[in-house]
Amino acid sequence: MAAPLNQVFFPSTFQELFSAWGRFPGAVPYAGGTGIIRGQGRQTLELPPVILSLDKLEDLQRISRSERYLEIGAMVKLSQIIRLGKIVPEALSRCLENIAGAQLRNIATIGGNICYPAERLDASAAFTALDAQYELRSAQSSRWISASRFSSLPGPTALNPQELLTRVRVPLDQWNYSVYKKFSGSPPGSGCGVVVFLVKNQKNALTDIRVVYKTAAILRDKNSEAILAGKQLPLSRRVAAEFVENWEIFLSGIQNLDELSQKELLNFIELNVYNLTE
Ligand SMILES: Cc1cc2nc3c(=O)[nH]c(=O)nc-3n(C[C@H](O)[C@H](O)[C@H](O)COP(=O)(O)OP(=O)(O)OC[C@H]3O[C@@H](n4cnc5c(N)ncnc54)[C@H](O)[C@@H]3O)c2cc1C
Repeated sequence: MAAPLNQVFFPSTFQELFSAWGRFPGAVPYAGGTGIIRGQGRQTLELPPVILSLDKLEDLQRISRSERYLEIGAMVKLSQIIRLGKIVPEALSRCLENIAGAQLRNIATIGGNICYPAERLDASAAFTALDAQYELRSAQSSRWISASRFSSLPGPTALNPQELLTRVRVPLDQWNYSVYKKFSGSPPGSGCGVVVFLVKNQKNALTDIRVVYKTAAILRDKNSEAILAGKQLPLSRRVAAEFVENWEIFLSGIQNLDELSQKELLNFIELNVYNLTE
């Protein structure tokens, strides 16, 4: 059906949403709108001709918690998540606190940050490191996909046509060492470099380590992580050096990663892994 200009739908059920989307396949979901109007400095904003406002879908506003998971609806604002306080894994709250200013965080939603089609945004690094899962829903079905897979699929987004992100499930693991850093020196077009460094230990043994770096893509080197898994803490300096060397080799094989980003990341990794030595 040809769309008359500037139609806005306000569905309050998924059935209404997918029915409108079926009639106007090019319609664009509208969450906080900060991504959709990003970079428009003009007086008159340009909006997609057909908009599906997600405002009235109550399911997307829900936050729930079980012993093992925190579940966050796609329409929950970044600032609402931060305000949940201690229950939010530190890597995630630090990541969200570092996104733009407070006013933007009061409008921007977690779903919009994940689904922004032009580039990978910051939350994808924290969700990948924390092993989060995304629930995606279409007219006929729903499916779960890991944050890691969602962010690594080629193309502007891993969403199928007329598919909606409905919620994020974040495991509530206890991380003994959790560091988040945002670099400022990334070249234009590659997105800001952000990195998450997580370590879990049981008594004196390191049981899990994850280092996830995001620029234009998400980088994680499981071979390097395997060097440390199971090692006694504090780590020996030899093992720490091996970890850094492995990352260096891994990064040298990554195309389009500029020298400055590479250096900043290696310095960060070195500093943090040596924090785990005697
Ligand atoms: C000044 C400024 C500074 C910023 N700085 C940062 C920063 O430092 N770090 C960072 O990570 N980001 C940054 N951003 C980007 C910002 O985080 C995103 O614009 C925001 O998270 C998008 O959320 P939204 O709710 O406004 O999404 P919208 O603008 O409404 O949507 C963004 C895209 O996602 C799609 N979408 C939204 N929700 C869903 C859903 N549930 N299912 C399927 N598709 C959906 C929309 O169709 C659209 O294509 C900045 C933006 C601005 C304007």
